[in-house]
Amino acid sequence: MSDFLRTDIKYLTGVGPKRAEIFNKEIDVFTVEDLLYYFPYKYIDRSRIYFIHEIDGNMPYIQLKGWITAFETVGEGRNKRLVAHFTDGTGFIDLVWFQGVKFMQDKYKTHSPYIVFGKPTRFGDKFNIAHPEIDPYIDENSRNVGLEPHYNTTEKMKKHYLNSKAIQKIMAGAFKSILGSISETLPDTVIQKAKLMPLKDALRNVHFPENPQILRDAQYRLKFEELFYIQLNILKYTSERKSKLKGIVFTHVGEYLNRFYTDKLPFELTGAQKRIIKEIRVDMATGEQMNRLLQGDVGSGKTLVALMLMLIALDNGYQAALMAPTEILATQHYQTISELLEGLNVNVELLTGSTKKADRERIHNNLLTGDLQILIGTHALIEDTVQFSNLGLVIIDEQHRFGVAQRAKLWTKNHQPPHILVMTATPIPRTLAMTVYGDLDVSVIDELPPGRKPIQTIHQFDKKRGAMYQSIRKQLQEGRQVYIVYPLIEESEKIDLKNLEEGYKHIMEVFPEYKISKVHGKMKPKEKDAEMQRFLRNETQIMVATTVIEVGVNVPNASVMVIEEAQRFGLSQLHQLRGRVGRGADQSYCILVTPYELSADTRKRINIMVESNDGFEIAEADLKLRGPGDLEGTQQSGIPFSLRIANIVRDGEILQYAREVAQSIMDEDPNMERPENRILLRQLRRLKGNRYGWELIS
Ligand code: ADP
Ligand code: MG
Repeated sequence: MSDFLRTDIKYLTGVGPKRAEIFNKEIDVFTVEDLLYYFPYKYIDRSRIYFIHEIDGNMPYIQLKGWITAFETVGEGRNKRLVAHFTDGTGFIDLVWFQGVKFMQDKYKTHSPYIVFGKPTRFGDKFNIAHPEIDPYIDENSRNVGLEPHYNTTEKMKKHYLNSKAIQKIMAGAFKSILGSISETLPDTVIQKAKLMPLKDALRNVHFPENPQILRDAQYRLKFEELFYIQLNILKYTSERKSKLKGIVFTHVGEYLNRFYTDKLPFELTGAQKRIIKEIRVDMATGEQMNRLLQGDVGSGKTLVALMLMLIALDNGYQAALMAPTEILATQHYQTISELLEGLNVNVELLTGSTKKADRERIHNNLLTGDLQILIGTHALIEDTVQFSNLGLVIIDEQHRFGVAQRAKLWTKNHQPPHILVMTATPIPRTLAMTVYGDLDVSVIDELPPGRKPIQTIHQFDKKRGAMYQSIRKQLQEGRQVYIVYPLIEESEKIDLKNLEEGYKHIMEVFPEYKISKVHGKMKPKEKDAEMQRFLRNETQIMVATTVIEVGVNVPNASVMVIEEAQRFGLSQLHQLRGRVGRGADQSYCILVTPYELSADTRKRINIMVESNDGFEIAEADLKLRGPGDLEGTQQSGIPFSLRIANIVRDGEILQYAREVAQSIMDEDPNMERPENRILLRQLRRLKGNRYGWELIS
């Protein structure tokens, strides 16, 4: 791209330093190029002029061509308004202003030709258009034809008169100055093959399309390009990694795994667990470094898989590490695994932020001598001070935001990079996985341990708690335990704590005969842990908590999950919470409590939860309902970056095709040395320098 595109937008006609600053701060637009890539969010059809006699009760925004016959001021005080009687020879319609009466009357003349734009509304047996847009009509050639772009603007921008219309003007001016400055960013071969519109046409047409077909073609080109470069980047990176890094080869299945399997395994592995362990064992013996994502719904038994894989590392003379996102989870893993390994003579330790200094030092030392074989912990275990003697496998549990940068850090923990397995209970739809985890191989545990009854999910209005408490009491009387979860929103932690405190008091009143635990994010990890342990040992029967219990916690005796204000949670989160129950052989229940009044979308979300127990189905529905990159979606669904024009949900087919094209380039010209492919390397370098968060792509 030429220098003109790198020009600061303050030099553009109609911008200047003040507005430039607003562009920078409000929408991240700094250069002419940034502006060109600030795409409209919708278009309004200006291609047709209607006749007044065509107007009926149900019209979108339309255009009329005609003249004002007379002005009239009607009403008094707050009801005062200006009415212009407007005609095109086929009928009359009133144009109405409630504000700027004097201004409008001065601005527009009677009997001069105008194009009027607005939405007609019926008023008795007549129609009017309130606050229309009016442009002088000069001739057919100068008329703004085609689809009119509409741009998102913030309140602050509007205050400085940077509304959609103003952006449109600045954009039009920019295109006038650009002339030949936009050079192609894709190789000719790709443009031919995918039948794409050239970049300069696509950019102009996405802002000023003459008709819907041209718009679609322009959008297709830009979406394709965006997805294509993401895919190319992932594929290139993966192939480089594979050629540079030699993987550790695990060939033995030895004593540790065998003894565990025959003496210690508390139950028969599920078919899916067996298949996955085999798949991963093969993967860890190829000589390539493994980078794999293991998806398995909550309760599918990932921990056991993790443990058995770690034992394979031990059998081959290597150390293994298991990393969890929270202290509670790390501790629980440590306990589960220590118990399972009892008598096998394996040295396991726990390292978290609250590990005491003396213990920490001992752990550091034993890691270096190799005496310590399995280290379980939180993020504390990737700190630089933690060094291993021969780390062979790292397993990361329930971690969404573990991008390539963090994984790269793990690779340096050993002279040879360890194998890496990321485990998640968030089912990631295929299109997303391809974009976000593009360089990871994926395994799926698609089977739950036998004997589990599907959790029954019930929608409960908050005004009718009596019946709900009765059924909870019944469960408690049968010896089961109960979770009651309150929402937590970071910005208003105080309010949420109040909710929690009140809920806690209320529950104590309702169930005076039972012991109640309370856990929230503001507690010290030690206290939190102690409370969780009490619940785990059934010393308390009801756990009142915020979402800190969301991931991983395993209390098989708990059979009821009550989620208060369920409407405030996303689908993935509801599914995760629900997964805390149904872990034993008994029938479990999830009760979603909401107010009567719910938006249509929320009602849909709740219904999906009531009807489906399938994590993948729910994740797809979630993505469709919210779109990626929305709300907690950025974190929950794992999209750590923003797309400018493509949409992961709707443009799955384009993504698939873009990946195929990128793959064929990598196959034919992996270093992109052919003259026609050099442009690809240049463009990749440029894109990596941008602000769209590519560094977070795994
Ligand atoms: P998650 O995949 O959610 O991490 P866990 O590993 O915590 O699931 O396992 C959930 C529960 O299922 C645990 O209590 C675990 O002991 C049990 N479990 C795991 N595998 C099996 C199996 N093959 N048969 C029966 N129970 C199992
Ligand atoms: Mg788990």
